[in-house]
Amino acid sequence: MTDSMSGRVALVTGASRGIGRAIAERLAAAGAEVAVHYHRDKAGAEETLARIGGRGFVIGAELGVHGDADEVHEQLSVGLAGRRLDVLVNNAAAQPAGPIGTDTEAAFDRLMAVNVRAPYFLIQRLLPVLADDGRIVSISSVATRMANPVQTSFAMTKGALETMTRTLAQELGARGVTVNAVAPGATRTEANGAFFETPGLTELIVGQTALGRLGSGEDVAEAVAFLASPAARWITGQVVDASGGLHLGVG
Ligand code: NAP
Repeated sequence: MTDSMSGRVALVTGASRGIGRAIAERLAAAGAEVAVHYHRDKAGAEETLARIGGRGFVIGAELGVHGDADEVHEQLSVGLAGRRLDVLVNNAAAQPAGPIGTDTEAAFDRLMAVNVRAPYFLIQRLLPVLADDGRIVSISSVATRMANPVQTSFAMTKGALETMTRTLAQELGARGVTVNAVAPGATRTEANGAFFETPGLTELIVGQTALGRLGSGEDVAEAVAFLASPAARWITGQVVDASGGLHLGVG
């Protein structure tokens, strides 16, 4: 690991487990101090913080409710203690709410609130403290390019995130801020391991993945860490697929 992120502060939403935890660990390994955000799992967030040697602080806040950005901003400001935020990783998300036939307005509204409204207004709230060479990386999904009817509304939220990425990149470029997204495919974490035990599922996915295995949080975190690093200074408005080539083509 290099220390390319030394002296930088990153906020990773949803870092109490899964991909968010792997991102926090990877950014910390590159030298960053990390604000480890969580909603319900305070113990998980504290474990993430412990895994990175305590180099950071935790932020507990529900996203997708009114006032969420203010809550994060308030706690972040204490941890920053007058410093700038260098990297914002919008990782926290609500899970797919099922196919259109069984979806509900309440579940749809919740997905939109957590996956779209929260990152958008969190960016708005944090822009004044974001460094002028700052980085915004949002976690999308291959669901935006793979039609999967059990994930229609979820895919819609990630599509919105990708559109936000391109348009904000245009606006924030004047400040030197880059805005990108990373789109994971099937990614096995400690939290969703049981799901991938479904008979036949892993074999099916692996068979449709060019690189021939499931992804890990660490695989995704590498892509995020690159986009968050100074080396990615000339890349903005992009969606980087980090799926090992899930549904890339035939054969
Ligand atoms: P996960 O295991 O379900 O973890 C979600 C994280 O987000 C947790 O830290 C959780 O906090 C937080 N969170 C969820 N809802 C929240 C809310 N309303 N307010 C605040 N925090 C909330 O997720 P994951 O599988 O690591 O996925 C991470 C990202 O990758 C998501 O954006 C997801 O859509 C995307 N993705 C994942 C996969 C995959 O196969 N895993 C594939 C494509 C895209 P608490 O636990 O503290 O409540």
